[in-house]
Amino acid sequence: MERAVARIDLGALRANCERLRVELGEARLCAVVKADGYGHGAVDVAGAALAGGAGALAVATAGEAGELGVAGLVGAPGEGRPELLTLGALTVAEVDVVLGAESAVGVWTPAFLDLVAARARAVGRPARVHVKHDSGMGRLGTFDGEEVVRLARATAADPDLELAGVWTHFATADEPDDDDGYFFEQLARFEPVAEAVHAEHPGVTVHAANSAAVFRSERSRFDMARCGVAIYGLDPFQADPAERGLTPVLSLRSYIAAVKRFPAGQSAGYGRRWRAPRDTWVGVVPLGYGDGVRRALTNNCDVLVGGRRYPLVGTVSMDNLTVDLGPETTVEPGAEAVLIGRQGEAEIRAEEVAARLDTINYEVTTAILPRVPRRATGAA
Ligand SMILES: *Cc1c(COP(=O)(O)O)cnc(C)c1O
Repeated sequence: MERAVARIDLGALRANCERLRVELGEARLCAVVKADGYGHGAVDVAGAALAGGAGALAVATAGEAGELGVAGLVGAPGEGRPELLTLGALTVAEVDVVLGAESAVGVWTPAFLDLVAARARAVGRPARVHVKHDSGMGRLGTFDGEEVVRLARATAADPDLELAGVWTHFATADEPDDDDGYFFEQLARFEPVAEAVHAEHPGVTVHAANSAAVFRSERSRFDMARCGVAIYGLDPFQADPAERGLTPVLSLRSYIAAVKRFPAGQSAGYGRRWRAPRDTWVGVVPLGYGDGVRRALTNNCDVLVGGRRYPLVGTVSMDNLTVDLGPETTVEPGAEAVLIGRQGEAEIRAEEVAARLDTINYEVTTAILPRVPRRATGAA
């Protein structure tokens, strides 16, 4: 029994990638492993995603690119290695780190293109560039479609650069009742820009879709889709992932460290935010917000013990939380406690925890802190 563990089912991750590849048909799957693989462990996830047929990987930051580079997972494609793309904005110093990891970079201004070219010349290896169009996300990228075409041309003409892609990102792909049709508006803005770049540079990879967009519209898939949340078996629409043939990869497990008799009126935890309404048994789980179990779950979620749901009662503290096991219980110290995942027939999904916290499943797994060891099973 471990105090706390995030179990990572790499077999499920591989199967989710295979499932997405079927959905994608001819389009390539780029597995997004930023934020330590959405809290699952980036290096293990990247390896399993590649085994599941992903043809590329993406991260957000230079540090993340460096980590995959060190793990030997990525590099310039064409040497049997998948392409790595760093999605985020980069400082001058970070450009060197990213190029050192042989990652492609996103570019949307002439000044940044010049910087990348200069650093690539210094490294002595051409930098791969994906020119980013902001078709309406209102974040990174240029709004100006003509600028995208000019940047692509400048990239292709520069011996220190290699034009690899043209891309955009959707703001509302995960909102199926996006009444104003903004998703399709963005698609309609991006399509002619991608078409213009592709006409001049037929080898370019056109990509736009995240996980939600893949399920939302075939038109959004182009040459490649950048899928994060779905490869982890998390539902992009906050519904049941099984509805889309996805299997959750992560479970968060701990154990019952103590079982105590509470007389009616006895409170649990800081601030006495719960008092036993009757004589009952309370289990103490040595897990708390120091592990990423959010304090807002105080009196506001369930925990699985012995294949059954019990309410979390009292204040979640940094290192402990408490569970009402009821007036009669057979639960003994040492029993497994599951905060996210399956136990027997019972299941608590990240989507359920997210709803309790008024957030999205992405934030639930990403919030699990490094104090919780990740244990991967089912490696390729
Ligand atoms: C995080 C991210 C993705 C992956 O999105 P999911 O919704 O997790 O599939 C794709 N593209 C960009 C630019 C991202 O930042």
